[in-house]
Amino acid sequence: MSSRSLLPQFFFSIERHLTLGVARQTNFTRIGIRRVSYLKQKSVLALSTRHLFSDVKGFIPCHRFLSSNMPPVVPKTDPIKIVEDLIKNNRIAVFSKTTCPYCIKVKQLFSALNLEIGVIEVDTREDGADIQDALLQKTGQKTVPNVFVNGEHVGGCDKTIEAHHSGRLQFLLNKSQGDASVEMTDAVKYDYDLVVIGGGSGGLAASKEAALLGAKVAVCDFVVPTPIGTTWGLGGTCVNVGCIPKKLMHQAAILGQSVEDAKTFGWELPEKAKHDWTTMVGAIQAHIGSLNWGYRVALREKKVEYINAFAEFVDPHTLKTTDKRQKEKTITAKYILLATGGRPRYPDIPGAQEFGITSDDIFSLPHHPGKTLLVGASYIALECAGFLAGLGINSTVMVRSILLRGFDQQIANLIGNYMEKHKIRFQRGYVPIKLERIEEGSPEEGTPGRIMVTSQNEEGELMEEEYNTVLFAIGRDACTNKIGIEKANVMLNPKNGKVICDEKEQTNIPHIYAIGDILDGKLELTPVAIQAGRLLAKRLFGNGTLITDYVNVPTTVFTPLEYGCVGLSEEDAIAKYGADDIEVYHSFLTPLEVTVPKRDGNEGYAKLICVKSLDEKVVGFHILSPNAGEITQGFAIGLKLGAKKADFDNLIGIHPTIAEVFTTLNSTKSSGADVLQKGC
Ligand SMILES: Cc1cc2nc3c(=O)[nH]c(=O)nc-3n(C[C@H](O)[C@H](O)[C@H](O)COP(=O)(O)OP(=O)(O)OC[C@H]3O[C@@H](n4cnc5c(N)ncnc54)[C@H](O)[C@@H]3O)c2cc1C
Repeated sequence: MSSRSLLPQFFFSIERHLTLGVARQTNFTRIGIRRVSYLKQKSVLALSTRHLFSDVKGFIPCHRFLSSNMPPVVPKTDPIKIVEDLIKNNRIAVFSKTTCPYCIKVKQLFSALNLEIGVIEVDTREDGADIQDALLQKTGQKTVPNVFVNGEHVGGCDKTIEAHHSGRLQFLLNKSQGDASVEMTDAVKYDYDLVVIGGGSGGLAASKEAALLGAKVAVCDFVVPTPIGTTWGLGGTCVNVGCIPKKLMHQAAILGQSVEDAKTFGWELPEKAKHDWTTMVGAIQAHIGSLNWGYRVALREKKVEYINAFAEFVDPHTLKTTDKRQKEKTITAKYILLATGGRPRYPDIPGAQEFGITSDDIFSLPHHPGKTLLVGASYIALECAGFLAGLGINSTVMVRSILLRGFDQQIANLIGNYMEKHKIRFQRGYVPIKLERIEEGSPEEGTPGRIMVTSQNEEGELMEEEYNTVLFAIGRDACTNKIGIEKANVMLNPKNGKVICDEKEQTNIPHIYAIGDILDGKLELTPVAIQAGRLLAKRLFGNGTLITDYVNVPTTVFTPLEYGCVGLSEEDAIAKYGADDIEVYHSFLTPLEVTVPKRDGNEGYAKLICVKSLDEKVVGFHILSPNAGEITQGFAIGLKLGAKKADFDNLIGIHPTIAEVFTTLNSTKSSGADVLQKGC
């Protein structure tokens, strides 16, 4: 293409900028490259074409083109260098086309933000296509606009606008301005802006969000094998040995019940449906494997470096990482986020670690567990007992005292009663004191072996019983004791080893934060860890100001009859407001699904805890029923918004559902009225 043929395009380009009201050309460094300060329409319209060219440096004015037949001498420059130069020499570099509406939109965005940008309009240049190829090589993106801020690739129009909304743009702009939060010098001083220790629910959420906002992030994740050698992939507790396999095994158990129920609805099925443990474990582990893979891909896509190694502090900004081949590396970070989660505790009794297992092992156990003892009264103990019994496995729960400490005790007892009625044996008041192997299991034959468990009650009476599997669910310990926390001087609660933080998840060492299960005094739940991680990253690297609200977090215990709750237990409501100020509305319930199979009449229960002096504001919501998690999630927004009992009364129910019970609760506990459900 001759320079003459470039002219119409060139004029078109300038004309567009004029008519769009966006350009005042201040410095042309080469054909088609302009440093453009975007101004408001009226001042731009006052500029003449002549004026536009008056301060072009190193550029042959247009009238010379018109009066000469000689083509201008344009030195052939390497397109990669052209791209790199624009990026290097401009805080904001935009590769654009004059006629592209998305390019115009991006330029208008920077104009509105009063930001100066360097632009190459590729459609005004002979080497435009080469430049686009160079961009493709550099960024994987050939289309324009293609935006860079302080050397970092932002992307096209949508990505740039998204970066503006998320605060990433501001973060990237601040990088060179010595912004208090992230100074450029830090990028030089430290290997990373952020290193996250722990690739679980919280750590992954935080690292991905931080990377999205432009931070240089690494996440260290390493699974220390259990005493019997179980290990797993990226994603932490929830996906590998927590929520996900637990809910899937709960579902397997529900299906067993449904098969039985189906017969009463006319389905012709075998007399006794058989369950195969290894098929279930194989299918669940395959799903988990796909999730592990997905997390790795997501980290790669978001440019988070995944370091599959155990991390520990060397000093407050330095970590030593050790991989499974014992290869060590030292890395430094401006910010360090602790998200190491927890691991199941073993009792300090003979044989516990040698012969016992925990929730870390059960979901991938290669053989049928056989007769199982579950030690503990935690939700994990009850959930595991629930699904094992639902799969037809002989299950006993050994509890020292109350069930589900911290949860509403009326409901905890209803859960216990229901489980006892459904083939789960409870040994109350006992604790195990010794485990002995009396027969080895055979991996080849898929047999679990036999274990003799000696237990003792408060009176010192001993009891011996044989089991195939013993699962401890007596609590979880925060993973803070092997990470050299003392070298960083981070304060822990000496009682539980959890990290003490302020409401912004900041420890006593300002650049070290903690989220998730290791946070002292906070709920150990996946969505809580995720929310804390995301909001923290936004505050550190974006414009975020929101802090995680740890109040009124809904949760569900996936026992055979699920228990969903949000807000206060009845005990806590009484402790907070006084028994006289509390009104409890409640009802037993029978889900329609169980009526035809004629099981579980009035086993479900619903209650709302209200504060009289606050116009019957609902401070506690509790439901014991199938699908309680789904029901609770919906109603939780009501509690978050401060719903009153009258709001529940005003709500029209969906019939026939379980949840509609909350729209018609009219019996108070204090009235002592019969609350068994009679009709539909
Ligand atoms: C059986 C069970 C069922 C559960 N069910 C539910 C449920 O239904 N709903 C719910 O919301 N929550 C549930 N939870 C809780 C939920 O799993 C946790 O709250 C959540 O996983 C916590 O996330 P986290 O990021 O704090 O830690 P984790 O997810 O535990 O991740 C921590 C990661 O850090 C790694 N790590 C630790 N130390 C280091 C180190 N020094 N270097 C490198 N890596 C390290 C660990 O190996 C792990 O991968 C359940 C938990 C269990 C055990």
